Amino acid sequence: MNVKKTQEYYQQLSHDDLCRCVYCQNYIRQIKCEYPAVAAYLQELGVDIEKPFETMPLEPDIDGFIEYIAVQYVVFGERKGFKKGIIDFVNIDVAEHHPSSKIEESHFIVEIYPIRLKWVM
Ligand SMILES: [Zn+2]
Repeated sequence: MNVKKTQEYYQQLSHDDLCRCVYCQNYIRQIKCEYPAVAAYLQELGVDIEKPFETMPLEPDIDGFIEYIAVQYVVFGERKGFKKGIIDFVNIDVAEHHPSSKIEESHFIVEIYPIRLKWVM
């Protein structure tokens, strides 16, 4: 893993680069407050939890919550050194299936799942 390069990537990534759909906006608004331990873990990898590469939401349920089957993040470097784990009932693992990142440099995609948040949109 290349933590420094990952940090730089997330620093230069502006909110205009992120998906503007309501599902992503709902996620970005709450994720850091609701899952602080997961946010801290990702931060050690250089990842900003508020800048997801891809979210995979279900529809909001009648109780006013929404589940994300998985949320994916770009990490630079090789997978070597990455340890999968579970934090606060959230799995953190390498994603085998994801959209093209269009990034040329060595990188891989990490996904966290499942995530459950209020639907505030
Ligand atoms: Zn989106």
